Amino acid sequence: MRSHLLNDTTAESYRRSVTEGVERVASKLAATRRPFTGAGVEDIAPLIDRVDLDRPLGDTSAVLDELEDVYLRDAVYFHHPRYLGHLNCPVVIPAVLGEAVLSAVNSSLDTWDQSAGGTLIERRLIDWTAGRVGYGPAADGVFTSGGSQSNLQALLLAREEAKTEDLAKLRIFSSECSHFSVQKSAQLLGLGRSAVVSIPCDHDKRMQTVALARALERCAAEGNVPMAVVATAGTTDFGSLDPLPEIAELCERYGAWFHVDAAYGCGLLVSPTRRHLLNGIEHADSVTVDYHKSFFQPVSSSAILVKDGSTLRHATYHADYLNPRRAAEERIPNQVDKSLQTTRRFDALKLWMTLRTMGADGIGSLFDEVCDLAVQGWRLLAADPRYDVVVEPTLSTLVFRYIPDAVTSPAEIDRANLYARKALFASGEAVVAGTKTGGRQYLKFTLLNPETTAGDIAAVLDLIAGHAEQYLGENLVHAAS
Ligand SMILES: *Cc1c(COP(=O)(O)O)cnc(C)c1O
Repeated sequence: MRSHLLNDTTAESYRRSVTEGVERVASKLAATRRPFTGAGVEDIAPLIDRVDLDRPLGDTSAVLDELEDVYLRDAVYFHHPRYLGHLNCPVVIPAVLGEAVLSAVNSSLDTWDQSAGGTLIERRLIDWTAGRVGYGPAADGVFTSGGSQSNLQALLLAREEAKTEDLAKLRIFSSECSHFSVQKSAQLLGLGRSAVVSIPCDHDKRMQTVALARALERCAAEGNVPMAVVATAGTTDFGSLDPLPEIAELCERYGAWFHVDAAYGCGLLVSPTRRHLLNGIEHADSVTVDYHKSFFQPVSSSAILVKDGSTLRHATYHADYLNPRRAAEERIPNQVDKSLQTTRRFDALKLWMTLRTMGADGIGSLFDEVCDLAVQGWRLLAADPRYDVVVEPTLSTLVFRYIPDAVTSPAEIDRANLYARKALFASGEAVVAGTKTGGRQYLKFTLLNPETTAGDIAAVLDLIAGHAEQYLGENLVHAAS
């Protein structure tokens, strides 16, 4: 069994196994004609259930053969130009190479004595990102597992910096389009259900600052404490950006922590043409960035950045066995002092490899391409009588719904759109997402693949319309008979 351990004596077997795996994935990628096979849970579950985990196959080729059956064949492929579902990006090769290196070396970024240079690479990338945000030299941050964790940590810092210890008095303000992890974080931080005040959005799905000002005023009048305002720079559904400069001013006036959730919009930090959309982000006390969304990085790769690095002390605990106080005094860089995690992946390496291979402009141009594509998609939708589209895109999502010619009830239109999405998924021809707005069922394209064309968008719109028409047609027949 020692032959399976990766070390000096097994380097050749490592090379062979990994190469074989890479070969399989490479031919899979080349042969994929649809983003998905359309397999259902009932198709896949038996394949996985029948694997006897207590009887290993022993041999890489056999395991890869089996993997083809239980996973690779029916996986959802984000690299396919007709995957238009969630905020998943196709990944860039330098980052995938980074992933292979980091898992083989297996550094853990909690302490210097488990990572050495890895720690310094992560720190350089945090400083680099902080520079892009427009922060000064006091800034700091740390890589996290994702935007949800970054938001949680940001709100933890905000809670600790708040001007009261009476948790029941703390309020968080975020728009009705903000990410659900804000609510979840409030719950985890012991703030209770009424802690998050939802601020309405305008027609373009941006937080209404007049409403925010009113809510902050009311909070003060009620004797409560405005703990934080979360501005979303790129809402998950609409890609809309809250007005950062105005929100920054209000935070300043009311003494609230200003957090910018740029999990999606962080790609603008490297955009050669759109960086100005993030103007005002430099005033934020903390920023969430998800490199695994708009930097074309494999999951996971994310970070929280803070304007004042000393606030990260609220996440610090000293353990004698790991990061004793003495180590901090000796200025040994132990990243665990800043993180909610202990053992932690060297995700930063993927971004490092990407920047060293393609450069920031390379990533930013890819993000620009998908934002341009969204504008083309919007034009198609706006000109198409079969569809209603909600807002003109700022980033790269489109929220729309199929509207039939004939008069039907709103509930029936909802069902037709739901049906179309499911039928499309089951066909595997394309993958789109769904969401609700104004209480009604909508569909969503998240465009993160520069290989997707306007032709793909037009073709998928035809497919959706076909499914919706089929649903409505069948139901008419039902109603008549
Ligand atoms: C995706 C997203 C998150 C959550 O990030 P994860 O990496 O999925 O945890 C938070 N905020 C916004 C605006 C997002 O789009």
